[in-house]
Amino acid sequence: MKKVYKIEVDCANCSSKMEAATKKTAGVKDAVINFMTQKLTVEFEDGADITAVMKDVLKACKKVESDCEIYL
Ligand SMILES: [Zn+2]
Repeated sequence: MKKVYKIEVDCANCSSKMEAATKKTAGVKDAVINFMTQKLTVEFEDGADITAVMKDVLKACKKVESDCEIYL
């Protein structure tokens, strides 16, 4: 299960920090951020509660980059 989210991040460095934080979140199998298009693609583990996982992803990303936004 893959979903694409619109994000807002100011630089490529922050986007790679967000990508790493997303990958470490429970329920996430893989994550890729495209800084140019400001999009986050998340691949979820089978049976993951996507709403709950994305709340954790947002929390984790805010921790590494308080200025970022993910439009859930
Ligand atoms: Zn930055």
